Amino acid sequence: MKIEIVEEDELNIKFILYDAPVAFANSFRRAMKSLVPVMAVDYIDVYLNSSYLFDEILAHRIGLIPIKTDLNRFNMQNECVCEGEGCPNCQVSFRLNVEGPKMVYSGDFISDDEEIRPVYDNIPVVELFKGQQLMIEAVARLGTGKEHSKFQPVSICTYRIIPEIEIQGECNSCKACVEACPRDILENRDGKIVVKDVLNCSMCMECVKVCEENAIEVMETNNYLFMVEGIGQLPIREVMTKALEIIKSKAEEMNKIIEGLV
Ligand SMILES: [Zn+2]
Repeated sequence: MKIEIVEEDELNIKFILYDAPVAFANSFRRAMKSLVPVMAVDYIDVYLNSSYLFDEILAHRIGLIPIKTDLNRFNMQNECVCEGEGCPNCQVSFRLNVEGPKMVYSGDFISDDEEIRPVYDNIPVVELFKGQQLMIEAVARLGTGKEHSKFQPVSICTYRIIPEIEIQGECNSCKACVEACPRDILENRDGKIVVKDVLNCSMCMECVKVCEENAIEVMETNNYLFMVEGIGQLPIREVMTKALEIIKSKAEEMNKIIEGLV
């Protein structure tokens, strides 16, 4: 198994996973999406709310604000020394005390912890009009996407199989396949049909259908193109490595169970 990064920026990554069973590729995708923990607000105490939004709607909106996460400093609440009561090792408080007229943004929350704060300061929460007030304490903790989508570290996490496209000798270069391909991945180069961009192939098989000579074969391989878009709580590479660590520990746990049975 091997990973090759194709494209990468702060929030997005495109990489190829070589030589892996499809079950592993899917486990990797699911682990990134729903097993890597990140911080999100889990409950709020409302001391004063004279805005036009109900407390519950505010709670929902605040819960969805992505929060910078440091996995080395915080424990999952169920594994913490406080046994789930809540302590500085597993939760962070945010305070909001504002008065209208004002648009309240995610950046208006004051965190107890300098490093743990909203990823983006410009997410609108509620508009306050003259005389309206909000006094809220919001408490964030680590959680996983399996529990609630607000704990997902990625907004997009997909893969597709990279096929192997073979053009055999019977090809008469009629170019029907070049015209049929909706993704423009085939090309007629000096009278010979060649594949110019296999990563873009969606295996729609249009080229195979139009080829009268049956010269094209599109085969599945054990290589996958992953496209992942992070939300910003964690660096995207950390999401990947953490997901792999989680899969490894789950496999080891499974091994122990099997050994126990034997
Ligand atoms: Zn704790």
